[in-house]
Amino acid sequence: MAAIPASLRRLVIQRADNRCEYCKISQIGQVATFHIDHIIPVVASGETTAKNLALACVSCSLRKGARQTLEDSETGKIVFILIRANRRGKNTSLGMARKWLG
Ligand SMILES: [Zn+2]
Repeated sequence: MAAIPASLRRLVIQRADNRCEYCKISQIGQVATFHIDHIIPVVASGETTAKNLALACVSCSLRKGARQTLEDSETGKIVFILIRANRRGKNTSLGMARKWLG
């Protein structure tokens, strides 16, 4: 796994307001420390940059794994990024993927 510099970790946590960016649960009061997740996995050439990283609770992180998926905020279903992008007829981009997280 790619090492994530401490400064980048802090930036992601602060940007996420200390909440899982997939399900929005707060890290405060949770026993387990949240993960810094690669939205586009490292195995799929995802970069260790702020826009490709998301704070993820343990549950979301384990469900997602190395897949390129997101939880559809409208249906609650896990969907592949490219499938959803194609359904909407738009190009996939990290910016759009992040927008869908909310
Ligand atoms: Zn979560």
